[in-house]
Amino acid sequence: MSRYIAVIDQGTTSTRCILFDHAGRAGAMTQMEHRQFYPRPGWVEHDPLEIWQNVQTVVSKALQEAKTETGDIAALAVTNQRETLVAWDQSTGNPIYPAIVWQDTRSVEICDQLSLEGGRDRFRVRTGLPIATYFSGPKLQWLLENIEGARIKAERGELLCGTIDSWLVWNLTGGVNGGVHVTDATNASRTLLMNIETLAWDDDLLAAMNVPPAALPAIHSSSEIYGLATGVLAGVPVAGILGDQQAALFGQTGFDRGEAKNTYGTGCFLLLNTGSNPVHSRHGLITTVAYQLGDTPPVFALEGSIAYAGALVQWLRDNLGLIKTAAEVEDLANSVEDNGGIYIVPAFSGLFAPYWRSDARGIIIGLTPYADKGHFARAALEATAYQTRDIVDAMRQETGMDLDLLKVDGGMVVNETLMQFLSDILGIPIARPIVTETTALGAAYAAGLAVGFWADIGELRGLWRKDKEWQPRMARETRDYLYSGWNKAVKHTFGWLD
Ligand code: ADP
Repeated sequence: MSRYIAVIDQGTTSTRCILFDHAGRAGAMTQMEHRQFYPRPGWVEHDPLEIWQNVQTVVSKALQEAKTETGDIAALAVTNQRETLVAWDQSTGNPIYPAIVWQDTRSVEICDQLSLEGGRDRFRVRTGLPIATYFSGPKLQWLLENIEGARIKAERGELLCGTIDSWLVWNLTGGVNGGVHVTDATNASRTLLMNIETLAWDDDLLAAMNVPPAALPAIHSSSEIYGLATGVLAGVPVAGILGDQQAALFGQTGFDRGEAKNTYGTGCFLLLNTGSNPVHSRHGLITTVAYQLGDTPPVFALEGSIAYAGALVQWLRDNLGLIKTAAEVEDLANSVEDNGGIYIVPAFSGLFAPYWRSDARGIIIGLTPYADKGHFARAALEATAYQTRDIVDAMRQETGMDLDLLKVDGGMVVNETLMQFLSDILGIPIARPIVTETTALGAAYAAGLAVGFWADIGELRGLWRKDKEWQPRMARETRDYLYSGWNKAVKHTFGWLD
């Protein structure tokens, strides 16, 4: 029997390839960063060809690192940064424009226009989502309206559009030589174009955003064989697709209603499994497909999305030069005892859940002559914890369920100072699994189930192992006092663009 499932984890800042064995352990891991382009304020782009090149490189290197061959790979899975839009020419395979990244706010006017009739929640029942620049549909409308020739090509079926998973799977399965144009229900549930009840593209939504159906990929489940890979992994079935956050929930084995995880990467995403029914939010959360396994009914989740978590640490590193590496933020934060009264609200692209304010912009508030760079580092880490608290409070209001444990993963969870503060501000234990690459692991699970590498989700549940748990130890008054400062700071970011 084959030894591994190979996963391509295409994130916002980097691309990884990880090979997982039967025990869910990583047998090899390779990673490459890609460039971030900021051509105008609010615009964020990636080069889809650079990403595809990096995918091929990390896959080859992972095979070399594990000293393994294609025959040892039972299946290939793709998990990806969601909502990021790519449009490419079917006959040449060349993107007609850079990838428009999820953080990009260029579609703000389109969103305002769409909201004129019926407000921001106009499509909420149908899609689970508010109208926001975050989602791919308004980005696609912008592209079709602004890039010369795009609409005509799209109408003729010569332009293929999709999220990063579609771009990669098309290339992996042969590209111009017969690549399949597909996506999965989790990625499609982030477009504002899919009907969350039927899991199909919705004619009214396509009409509202003026999107020709011929440009869109076919929507499949998250766990089935979509096609066979070509290139380095020739012949290996591509058998799993999950948006990165849904993959992390799956990798944390959050299969049951009431289970939750939060992933701390560039952004921060808390998903709560709500079972077989989509719960429509009244408190600023998103309703999303958690996963769908083959022909079985879909499972839904409520999600709280935060745009800037680790990205704020990157900003301290790249734009302010306060630290040389992301990891240094922890020592710098520990050089001071507390935040010194400073709050940073990283509303760089507006605020996502639970506020959904495109008109908000970031602030640093509470400055006194006492403040130094240690306080900045501390405030940056604390911002991630406060934003989590905002979401957890909203989930409680929404569902009446109290979380008794939060499972965490993502690049920031190595930061133990942050983990302790998180537990303190939430007042619940935080659990970190041994495998923190849960995003890739979840995608591996989806592909592995499709090809019989693992028998069922019961077997997967047995693979979850705890590494460390943090308990709250902050006095309640301190917690409330600190959080009330955050709430005041957030209000100051609203309406900055008015
Ligand atoms: P993504 O998958 O979104 O690209 P990752 O899960 O790889 O992100 O996490 C990368 C993020 O984690 C970066 O934004 C980086 O600033 C942050 N990060 C990495 N190490 C640390 C650390 N020790 N402390 C705080 N943040 C960190």
